[in-house]
Amino acid sequence: KRLVQGLTKTRDNIVSGIDSIFSGFSSIDDEFYEEIEEILIMGDLGVHATTEIIENLKVKVKEQHIKEPAQCKELLISSIKEQMDVGETAYQFENEKSVVLVIGVNGVGKTTSVGKLAGKLKAQGKRVVLAAADTFRAAAGEQLGEWASRAGVEMIGGQEGADPGAVVYDAVAAARARNADVLLCDTAGRLHNKKNLMEELKKIHRILEKEYPEAFRETLVVLDGTTGQNALSQARQFSEVAEISGIILTKMDGTARGGIAVAIQSELGIPVKYIGVGETIDDLQKFDSEQFVKALFE
Ligand code: GDP
Repeated sequence: KRLVQGLTKTRDNIVSGIDSIFSGFSSIDDEFYEEIEEILIMGDLGVHATTEIIENLKVKVKEQHIKEPAQCKELLISSIKEQMDVGETAYQFENEKSVVLVIGVNGVGKTTSVGKLAGKLKAQGKRVVLAAADTFRAAAGEQLGEWASRAGVEMIGGQEGADPGAVVYDAVAAARARNADVLLCDTAGRLHNKKNLMEELKKIHRILEKEYPEAFRETLVVLDGTTGQNALSQARQFSEVAEISGIILTKMDGTARGGIAVAIQSELGIPVKYIGVGETIDDLQKFDSEQFVKALFE
């Protein structure tokens, strides 16, 4: 229910257009497919996913000898689902001792998402430690500190300008000492330039691989769902630096561009693990492709 509410704008954006095509066309022709294609592109599903979905739809229509446009709706829905298939999405950090590295550019909702995730894991009875490795902005550590106290978890930070690698190093030691179940590492989203940022992330990645290899299994990229194709290109850039195990797609509550979830899974094959649908600690939901498509069309 909440998922549907959160996705209202995306839903309105895609569904109203699609429905008018299904009712407005009397036969299945090139123009019919072009109109659907346009709606999917406008809905931020991306060129790659859209092309595949239309091709798939055409095959289904032919195989099943469909003649009525209205009968295509179910086929379109199943084509979108198939395009989103990235296999089973694992949430290993819920079951095994884990380090979760969280990366993303400034303003996407990284700190908020780390805070929400900490709250979720804590509510499951887990011992959580946070690493405030964004030492570039003094406010970042303070903001994470507020989330830490709200969630009732411990945070390891450093002075403004401190070496983020050193913070991560200390946080690993603290996580080991406290026998923590999950160590969540928040990182900087902006440094003096992009190259700097990527170098810094690589360094943190190396430290975790070296200091806590048995637990380091997850790198999540946080993307702002309102930025559409921009989010996709950020994900692509981060995946050049680190092996990305999942995406957190934020601000899905206010956006008509939620179709980006399809583009990400289709084009990059990386699972969207969570979506953010608001600013409070409860507004982080596990993402499920099946439910998502259902929420958009039904
Ligand atoms: P960071 O710079 O990536 O760490 O971003 P922040 O965590 O500071 O978030 C930036 C802004 O986005 C804040 O005002 C958050 O409250 C807001 N925000 C984060 N996630 C969501 C979400 O899922 N929905 C909405 N509506 N706002 C969000």
